[in-house]
Amino acid sequence: MGRYRGYSDALKARYGEKVYKVPVALPVTCPNRDGTLGSGGCIFCGSIGADYETRAVGLSITAQLERSIAHIGPKYKAKKFITYFQNFTNTYAPPDRFRAWMEEAARHPDVVELDVSTRPDCIHEVYLEILKEVADRYGVGITVELGLQSSNPHTLKILGRGHTAAEFIDGALRIGRYGFGLCAHVIADLPWDDRTDVEETAKLVSVLPVTQVKLHSLYIVKGTALARMYEAGELTLLPMAEYIERVLLFLSYLRKDIIIQRIVGRASGPYTITVNGGDPWWEVKKRIDEAMILRDISQGDRCDYMDGKAVRRWTGGDTH
Ligand code: SF4
Repeated sequence: MGRYRGYSDALKARYGEKVYKVPVALPVTCPNRDGTLGSGGCIFCGSIGADYETRAVGLSITAQLERSIAHIGPKYKAKKFITYFQNFTNTYAPPDRFRAWMEEAARHPDVVELDVSTRPDCIHEVYLEILKEVADRYGVGITVELGLQSSNPHTLKILGRGHTAAEFIDGALRIGRYGFGLCAHVIADLPWDDRTDVEETAKLVSVLPVTQVKLHSLYIVKGTALARMYEAGELTLLPMAEYIERVLLFLSYLRKDIIIQRIVGRASGPYTITVNGGDPWWEVKKRIDEAMILRDISQGDRCDYMDGKAVRRWTGGDTH
């Protein structure tokens, strides 16, 4: 094991072989875009959501899976896949439609897991029950991905998220009761956050039933409110060196068993104004890895704040 718990190793340990995520787009939108909560969306969210990776509008789930598996399977000699419902808010649909989509994906013989990306305020028992029933019936794993981005309510307001940490906590606790995987999305270098906010976000994630984290830097997609702020000179991005510092800080406070699904952002070229300060993602990752070795930092080094830290001399034991 390296200095943090990597995703591909965790998948291999769980499924006994390499497993690849296959993005599948559903015909959904987001309550933060359609007027239910807001109409502008989060300031960093592109108008096509994350669909630029799938280019799948109008294709059935099975057709999308077949197309991607035909491409990825031979290329990586992969036989097992995770269906990743990535774009917009994938539990934002009538329950019957949601059930039909989940069943269609789970029925595919090469799919071992469903990974459903959504918002904290779109978690409800009705959808979690459907996921449980699909998991039991088809023998697939379930992971839910939730955007948190920051624990700082002021930053979340600037981002236009339409929720605070409270909704994330509520959603996370509900998901945890079902025993599903739970992946929290965090932007480590938000210019409105300071390092204390980053530390607090790591602690918040760690005390909840979060099993995975996706970390990335703030990148700017064309046509977004963030792009307009950037082009008007109203936003100064933090340097990559600060991103790396914040990632190290975040990881040191993070629970040791949480899997790091992503440690650096990757964005699609034609839609992106800037990502990772112009540095290739693998360079940033290499610098993080090297800094952790050089400074002897490992995930969870400072995760000593749970289970009654102040009464440990009476309760004994190492609790982390
Ligand atoms: S919650 Fe997700 S899909 Fe909705 S506006 Fe924000 S980033 Fe976009």
